[in-house]
Amino acid sequence: MNNQDCIFCKIVAGDIPCFKIYETGNILSFLDIGPVNKGHALVIPKNHYKNIWDFPAELGAEVLTAAQVVGDAIVKATGADGMNILMNNNAAAGQLVFHAHFHLIPRFKNDGFKLWKQSEYDNMDEASALAQKIEKMIRSVN
Ligand code: 5GP
Ligand code: ZN
Repeated sequence: MNNQDCIFCKIVAGDIPCFKIYETGNILSFLDIGPVNKGHALVIPKNHYKNIWDFPAELGAEVLTAAQVVGDAIVKATGADGMNILMNNNAAAGQLVFHAHFHLIPRFKNDGFKLWKQSEYDNMDEASALAQKIEKMIRSVN
């Protein structure tokens, strides 16, 4: 599965170069060209899936294995103190490339990055009602 207009499909096909660091039959990992910190890499399925909902769950274990293997190597190679795994889904969440991908971002003590600001619920009734609504939604679609 390949999308002609997709930059990551072009990378998978070898039509656009990348700094490849890991590859299996279904997965490719390469350096992000605009790293949050140096060593920031992407893990992508070779097939074109738009986002988490389009992505076959059966591939999840392979992605997780890649994240462990590549992530361990990134942390060791960069001397990082930690790592974020991040996936942006849809434009509102910051997704710019609509080929599902997981960011592996090496993190350093005091690197100053804060991924998001947190808020709070008005009260526990609001939180409880929302949890129940989500739970009901899961039951209705599964
Ligand atoms: P998104 O915001 O969709 O989660 O992230 C897309 C990421 O892909 C960005 O961090 C961006 O730097 C990276 N990216 C975009 N185009 C290219 C490219 O041609 N090559 C590489 N290696 N990374 C890219
Ligand atoms: Zn693609």
